[in-house]
This record gives sequence, structure tokens and C-alpha cells, in this order.
Amino acid sequence: MPTTPTLPQPSPGRLDAEARLRRAGLRVTTARQVVLETLAEQPHTTVAELLPHVRDRLRFASTRAIHDVLATGVSAGLVRRFDTVGVAQRYELTGPEHGHLLCTNCGRLDSVGTAEATGAPILTGVCSHCAPDGHAHPEAR
Ligand SMILES: [Zn+2]
Ligand SMILES: [Zn+2]
Repeated sequence: MPTTPTLPQPSPGRLDAEARLRRAGLRVTTARQVVLETLAEQPHTTVAELLPHVRDRLRFASTRAIHDVLATGVSAGLVRRFDTVGVAQRYELTGPEHGHLLCTNCGRLDSVGTAEATGAPILTGVCSHCAPDGHAHPEAR
């Protein structure tokens, strides 16, 4: 019986942000924990997209504070930044390798599990939310 390939995803849900920060040699602060936990739940997001979710847990969090945490995370190797041309910078926690597809319809950065996409430059195409069949479709090159 063929096994269904499972899509590698950045760790969903609860994240032990404290352990990650300690392993990276960073001081554990509430802001860092909340931002990393939020990013684990909302991968491929911009600071503007993260802000309301961070504020759910940390009422006075500022855009600036989130930028600071992310910049620290990037230098420590905890966070990956996407400098995609034409759209705001997006972030995700470093973790299982997976490919990325930038949707030409809605601008979402989607994860794609195909082997050829993993570690490759970001593909463009139609994301799983926009495709009628619910599967991401990279454009043929
Ligand atoms: Zn889309
Ligand atoms: Zn990703």
C-alpha cells in the first residue's frame, strides 16, 4: 500500500520558545517568547500580519519590538527571513526544510512539499487557497 507523502510543515501549534532561545544562547524575554510562538502558528507572515496576533498575548507589543525580536532571531539562526521582490519581508521559524511558492493571485507565500521545491528558490504559481482543487500549482518553467 503506497504511503501518502506528508507535507513537511513548520512545527504547528505550541512551540517551546524558551528552550529554543536558550539553545541559541539568547536571553528569554516575554516578547521573544510570544513573537516566536506566534510565528510558529503563523508561518510566512509579515510583521504587519503578526502584530495583531502578538497583541492578543502581549497587549502593548509594537511593530518595532517585533522587528527587533525577528532581527535577533535571524542572527541567531532561529528565524528565516524572505526578501521576496515586490512584497513585504516575511518570516518563518527555521525548521524542517520545505519549498515555497509565491502566489501570483493573492500574494500569499505558501509551503510546498515537493522534493524539487525544497531548498530551491521561491517558486511562483497559484497557492493552495486560490487553486480550485486545493493544491498549490507552481507555474511550469
Ligand atoms: Zn493564492
Ligand atoms: Zn516556509
